[in-house]
Amino acid sequence: MKIAVFSAKPYDERFLKAPAEESGHELVFFEERLTATTAILTAGFAGVCVFVNDHVDAVVLGTLAKNGVRLLLLRCAGFNNVDLAAAESFNISVRRVPAYSPYAVAEHALALIFTLNRKTHRAFNRVREGNFSLDGLLGFDIHGSTAGFIGTGKIGCLTAQPLAAMGCRVLGYDPYPADGFSKIGEYTKLETLLAESDIISLHCPLTPATRHLINRDTLKLMKTGVMLINTSRGGLIDSEDLIEALKTGKIGYVGLDVYEQEAEVFFEDLSGEIIQDDVLQRLVTFPNVLITSHQAFFTDTAMRNITATTLANIEDFLAGRSTAAEVKAKKG
Ligand code: NAD
Repeated sequence: MKIAVFSAKPYDERFLKAPAEESGHELVFFEERLTATTAILTAGFAGVCVFVNDHVDAVVLGTLAKNGVRLLLLRCAGFNNVDLAAAESFNISVRRVPAYSPYAVAEHALALIFTLNRKTHRAFNRVREGNFSLDGLLGFDIHGSTAGFIGTGKIGCLTAQPLAAMGCRVLGYDPYPADGFSKIGEYTKLETLLAESDIISLHCPLTPATRHLINRDTLKLMKTGVMLINTSRGGLIDSEDLIEALKTGKIGYVGLDVYEQEAEVFFEDLSGEIIQDDVLQRLVTFPNVLITSHQAFFTDTAMRNITATTLANIEDFLAGRSTAAEVKAKKG
């Protein structure tokens, strides 16, 4: 099958190209994101492979269908960037990688928590400059604190487990409670979780219902000095409201691996350019904010798993098999 790979970085090519060719598929790698403007590049391809910041709306899907594309492969788990109803109406099968390594994302969420608390990122820079003072590096014991998880699926549970083992009280909120989490912590109402947690970590998908779940009103319910971690999707947090809460000291620490306007900046080297996003630039100035560029998934294991599932998705599509990796629009 001939497949156009969008938002392709050198590491995507390194992991995908050879195994795909061994399976008899031809992959062409485009650095560009898939948008209404770049969709014309799909002429002559039967499949298209995209990542988290490609914008696959009805207009893009219309162009894809016109060009003969029948398969849309997501190199990720989330599918909030795809108009599933439009894909169905154009008869384009959408297949994702449901779990390439929930461990990778959970480990990164934990890295953000521990780094923010003990400020090892600041200590690293200080010591290199001969500054051995401890002023400003005071942390708190994670043991005995309360950690709240919004979304208690695979990644939420894997992040909660080690914290529970370290002696944290673990709270969870999820409209679909699961036994897995009940063994680690206790389910509560969202308001209780917000009011009682010292650390709040977001692990739910971005949907119309969860967009700006963290906003002026929900921020008010939190403890003063709370730590907020988001490795899920940027749109879960209203960034301007977050900045206000940081300025008043309501929020004590923020760890973000995702950001609502990340599509224009994340994954790119902009070190020689003037960054136009004033909200992001303001966030970066806070000493208690740690931002990473959507790298939580980025481990060798995860990249190998993404490759394996993507190739399996192509084979399943060609064989006409419907699998759990296939994503369909919700009816009704
Ligand atoms: P999952 O499907 O196993 O779990 C998601 C959980 O969220 C489910 O239990 C679901 O019931 C719950 N949920 C749905 N609506 C909710 C709501 N309104 N409030 C609270 N919970 C709600 O998914 P997962 O594998 O644990 O992934 C979680 C998220 O992590 C994904 O949606 C994705 O956006 C994100 N992710 C980020 C990266 C990264 O590199 N930063 C990588 C992979 C996944």
